[in-house]
Amino acid sequence: MDFDFIVIGAGSGGVAASRRAASHGARVAIVEGRRVGGTCVLRGCVPKKLLMYAAQLGDAFREARGYGWAVETPAFEMPRWAAAKAAETTRLEGIYRQLLAGSGVTLIEGHAQLDDAGAVCVGEQRLTAPQVLVATGSAPVTDSIPGIAACATSDDLLDLNELPSRAAIIGGGFIAVEFASMLVRLGVAVDLFYRDRLPLRGFDQMLRTAAAAELQAAGVQLHPGSVPTQIQRGGSGLLLLMGEDRVLDFPWVLNATGRRPNTAGLGLALDERGAVLIDADLRTSRPGVCAIGDVTNRVNLTPVAIAEGRALADSLFGPTPRRVDLSRVPSAVFMLPPIATVGPTEEAALAAGHDLHVYETDFRPMKQAFIGGTERTRMKLLVDAADDRVLAVHMVGADAPEIVQSLAVALTAGATKAHFDQTIAMHPTAAEEFVLLRTLSRSLTTSQALASR
Ligand code: NDP
Repeated sequence: MDFDFIVIGAGSGGVAASRRAASHGARVAIVEGRRVGGTCVLRGCVPKKLLMYAAQLGDAFREARGYGWAVETPAFEMPRWAAAKAAETTRLEGIYRQLLAGSGVTLIEGHAQLDDAGAVCVGEQRLTAPQVLVATGSAPVTDSIPGIAACATSDDLLDLNELPSRAAIIGGGFIAVEFASMLVRLGVAVDLFYRDRLPLRGFDQMLRTAAAAELQAAGVQLHPGSVPTQIQRGGSGLLLLMGEDRVLDFPWVLNATGRRPNTAGLGLALDERGAVLIDADLRTSRPGVCAIGDVTNRVNLTPVAIAEGRALADSLFGPTPRRVDLSRVPSAVFMLPPIATVGPTEEAALAAGHDLHVYETDFRPMKQAFIGGTERTRMKLLVDAADDRVLAVHMVGADAPEIVQSLAVALTAGATKAHFDQTIAMHPTAAEEFVLLRTLSRSLTTSQALASR
């Protein structure tokens, strides 16, 4: 055997797994066919958040006037952002390469395939190891609607040098909502088309309603229950065929209709949605081959892939096998204002058999009230009526991801509503509202929920 562990895919999950395995003394190789760093660092979370900061600064110029600043008419120059973004992702890729080298992980550049005997083939090289990890991630879906392959994806958006004047965005998930919120602030006229009544299917109703309201307030044209049946090149760029002879013309269209696992050339058993099938110990259908992260299409978030990669490396090469608990994964939608959540939605908590005490608040934050702004902050706590445990925290408003990440620790520790009530507030903050919620908004029982279905 050439190595003890070969990792396919040098994204966040693969890099974390390879370094942890090497720290246990394993001889490790990592194979990458594109740039080192993966979707999160190069084409996702990191550049997306850098664009979000650019959009947020647009709001800040407007708000600054209300706080007494004289601000000249600001103008956003995409080429300058694009150059700075390229430099930053190159810097981060360099750091990832250094981390791998410093950990003693061998980087092999090229596209990997698994052969019938379970060896990892990269070009002419045939590498063997008793343990192989598939961490190949996912890529944008390009066949969700006939003709949608002609549209830009989030990869393309983050590589733009100039922004279009008008854009259609198709989809109502994370990517659609985040980019609609950003692009409209950067001066693009945005139309958002999605299938459901509200965006962000799967999120708590309060967050979904707030997301639609805030997007609309920012100037995004919402088209609920409306997606093209076909897309064609033509007009000023692309034509959206909406049915009943209705055709809409946009110079630029973003396909935000989801992502699909990268499974080609691996010969692994897949589920009906094309994801690699794994068991509770991350083992695939092939002996000695495990998989983590987006390629398994369960909770498609970077920190989950990292946690799984480290747990797997500890289990294979460390003293004690362990699994990652995915029952309480916090997540954020980086629209403006941002959304953050940990724990189930109200509907999911009831469906899981919890009678609930619901505490909610909705207010205009101090910073907005001072300048006559309309942006609101909304918070919700779901409390188990049986034992007072806080099951979920949902928030939309400034700094929501920073606040909810910290509250996720309390939930992991099993905090009760009484613990929240005993916590002294930090004033003046928005976060203090979470420990000052005394008025019960409503109580819900599972039997009522069943009856109303
Ligand atoms: P999502 O799965 O979040 O959303 C996909 C959207 O596409 C949904 O609104 C879905 O509609 C819609 N859709 C799917 N198929 C069709 C179709 N045929 N016609 C019309 N609409 C369709 O995917 P994203 O692409 O937004 O993001 C991919 C993944 O990346 C996410 O799952 C998330 O895990 C991750 N991500 C995380 C971020 C974060 O943590 N902040 C940011 C960005 C991405 P419907 O709801 O009706 O099914």
